[in-house]
Amino acid sequence: MGEYIVSARKYRPMSFDSVVGQSALTTTLKNAVKSGKLAHAYLFCGPRGVGKTTCARIFAKAINCLTPTEAGEACNHCESCEAFNDQRSYNIFELDAASNNSVENIKTLMDQTRIPPQVGKYKVFIIDEVHMLSTAAFNAFLKTLEEPPAHVIFILATTEKHKILPTILSRCQIYDFERMTVPGIIDHLKGVAEKEGIAYEEEALAVIAEKADGGMRDALSIFDQAASFAQGNLTYESVIADLNVLDSDNYFNIIDLAIENKVSDIMLLVNNIIAKGFDGGNLVNGLASHVRNVLMAKDESTLPLLEVSARQRERFKAQAQKCPTPFLYKALQVMNQCDIQYRASSNKRLLVELTLIQVAQITQPEDEPAAGRSPKSLKSLFRKLASPQPKPAQQVVGGEKTMARTTSATRTETIIALATASPNPANTATTTSLQTSSTPTANNTHRNAYGETEIAQLVLRLPTLNADRKKWEW
Ligand SMILES: [Zn+2]
Repeated sequence: MGEYIVSARKYRPMSFDSVVGQSALTTTLKNAVKSGKLAHAYLFCGPRGVGKTTCARIFAKAINCLTPTEAGEACNHCESCEAFNDQRSYNIFELDAASNNSVENIKTLMDQTRIPPQVGKYKVFIIDEVHMLSTAAFNAFLKTLEEPPAHVIFILATTEKHKILPTILSRCQIYDFERMTVPGIIDHLKGVAEKEGIAYEEEALAVIAEKADGGMRDALSIFDQAASFAQGNLTYESVIADLNVLDSDNYFNIIDLAIENKVSDIMLLVNNIIAKGFDGGNLVNGLASHVRNVLMAKDESTLPLLEVSARQRERFKAQAQKCPTPFLYKALQVMNQCDIQYRASSNKRLLVELTLIQVAQITQPEDEPAAGRSPKSLKSLFRKLASPQPKPAQQVVGGEKTMARTTSATRTETIIALATASPNPANTATTTSLQTSSTPTANNTHRNAYGETEIAQLVLRLPTLNADRKKWEW
């Protein structure tokens, strides 16, 4: 069995043409090689894992190649190229500024700039994470950068361009590396899977690409891990199980249920998801991204903004046709509110559930204001709880129905009145007479705001005057 090499290293691009997703930039670099018009310093900026160091190495090899191709690529078989390929070239120096950021490190490197190359034309100095250099190191470096020897080329790489001093920026040709797109990563992973003889489902690669968040190195590392877990057959199920990603079916289901106002079904689904160990906050955030995708899928012109596989795109399109745009706007708004409150919330699960209930209530028609004690929907209940409490003893709508609060409030007042007036022990009789006397207009549905026993208990808790009416007794 041969030595195992991780895919990120094994499939590291060796030429400009094999670099994925940076075509504009590699074309410019190839043209520079062809024309021989080279700057003294280059700055490669961009997120991690998008090919900054890889491009720097390819560039270093190409400008030192003794017989470059017409297209501006290295020939790969001259003396210099072979030295590069065997990693024994003396024309390339790499410094990782994250771990070697002292002024001594830079001075040692700058000493190397004085000696011209033996083979090839240029000595290339690649400084990775250049923003990590200490101030003293920066100053030492600036001295050489101002007037470098003709055979020296610096390539600086950084993930944080804003931390680079203007004095350095103004001396560099700046190249911004793009974040890789999901379809771009999927295409590359397909190629790798075919070379490795790994069977795959496109959906599975899409999950990996999404998880990689625009970085090819991350994508290849995740790919290796998932392929090892799935034992050479990358299915959608195996990948989501390995990466602990929530199946996107759940998001589609929640939105389908929300349009139909099926609150209890959503609650059961959420319970299942949380029971599997998924975080409620991530669930709401994932759902928000899902709703954003549905919104994008509503219009043909925004459809390309979906970074998903072709099959998923069709599913989003189908769901978008079912969802009214105001529903999507409102749902995003509600979930955004949840995201803001999530960190501070002491009952995170309740917040998640409330948020999803609210989403499920968006398309529900309004209840009649006189729905009373047993509202048809939870929506009106929440509204009542949130709104300022109405004054007691207020009759609502034509005397037919009485607000539950009003009923119980009136009843309590009557209980107090009667209990104070009647001597002990007449509680049971008082309670019975109360039911009819205090709520003459209430119909049967609303009369049972308090059960008989509860009223009995309530009455027992009230103070009464003793027999000679001189002293309150509890
Ligand atoms: Zn060559």
